[in-house]
Amino acid sequence: MPLALALLLAAAVPDAEIRAATDAITAQVVSTRREIHAHPELSNREEHTGRVVAEHLGHLGLEVRYPVAKTGVVGILRGGRPGGVVALRADIDALPIQEASDVPYKSQVPGVMHACGHDAHTAILLGVADVLASLKDRLPGTVVFLFQPAEEGPPEGEEGGAPLMVKEGALDDPPVEAVFGLHVGGWVEMGEAGWTDGALLASSDTFTIEVAGRGVHGAQPHQGLDPIPVAAEIVQALQLIVSRQIDGRQPRVLTIGRIQGGTRFNIIASQVVMDGTLRTHDAGVRRDIKARMARTVKGVAEAHGTTATLRFLDEGNPPTVNDPDLARLARPVLERVFGAGNVPHVDPQMVAEDFPAYGEKAPYFFFFLGTRNDAKGIPSVNHTDRFDIDEDALPLGVRAMATLAWEFLARER
Ligand SMILES: [Zn+2]
Ligand SMILES: [Zn+2]
Repeated sequence: MPLALALLLAAAVPDAEIRAATDAITAQVVSTRREIHAHPELSNREEHTGRVVAEHLGHLGLEVRYPVAKTGVVGILRGGRPGGVVALRADIDALPIQEASDVPYKSQVPGVMHACGHDAHTAILLGVADVLASLKDRLPGTVVFLFQPAEEGPPEGEEGGAPLMVKEGALDDPPVEAVFGLHVGGWVEMGEAGWTDGALLASSDTFTIEVAGRGVHGAQPHQGLDPIPVAAEIVQALQLIVSRQIDGRQPRVLTIGRIQGGTRFNIIASQVVMDGTLRTHDAGVRRDIKARMARTVKGVAEAHGTTATLRFLDEGNPPTVNDPDLARLARPVLERVFGAGNVPHVDPQMVAEDFPAYGEKAPYFFFFLGTRNDAKGIPSVNHTDRFDIDEDALPLGVRAMATLAWEFLARER
């Protein structure tokens, strides 16, 4: 065989071998997903899940760092041939929801449920580790497996999630050149991968507004300071920011989800507290609205002779915007795995992820793995008490992530 041809074949992604290796472990991936589904753990409390992951990776012979970012795991697989470094990420935490379905693998923890499918993400990525470890002699480079806690947000006052993984150096040694991730859900159908080369998910910022008042008899408001009409005016004024002050072509949502003040119909409240969330698809729009919110809250309160404070709870999540170059690389890979007609372009969603925190270190690509199956009665709506997935999507997720990693490592650089 001529040398050039030999090199070309060596570099080619072994699709058939990845598929065969995936077929061999699909039953195991399904049972792992069910085991994790039955034992869900809240953000920053994923003790059992983290241990299961660390042990699995250890048995495969990966270099294992544990714990990382409280309960997370980093596994490193060094291929037998030289090449770059690519990271694959799965989140591992569950939500405070009581599972309503009566599936055999139903949550055994009251009030806690894998209602966002992170059980599937974890099982898929463990499967990818199996597949790539079985082919590691031919693997051209290094794969870093990121099993990340607390994607749904750490408890207040705690650090966690993707930002803490980054802070603790999960992407630094070896230095990661690209990060791939996926999310299961009903945005696309089972058998499809939702792709885009632009914005996929929104930024999210959680905020609290406190309006100070002075309590007095409800019949004599002039002797006190009533925070309730001031709070009402702030709610209206905030909606005028999103509807009147921002370019209409820019997606944005500002929601006040909770408002609390007062104790009784004839007592002027001493304080009103409101919580809300801000969503955008653009870092500049996000910055702009946050600045306008501060000005509006302060200005409306001052106009009525009182004070109001706006506080953002933490750093929030940036928008998830795919790297165009990686998206171009990913599209034909996903078409090889899912079939040419099964990689629809998806519109950006207003839900958010902490995944883009990895963008601080390396470009990334994130996509939707379709798990909705109307014929089987699986709507796969995330964050609901009947959330479930069509498990036939699991091996597709394994092949997609394994092939994306290999394709990135094998490409000419
Ligand atoms: Zn979620
Ligand atoms: Zn999620």
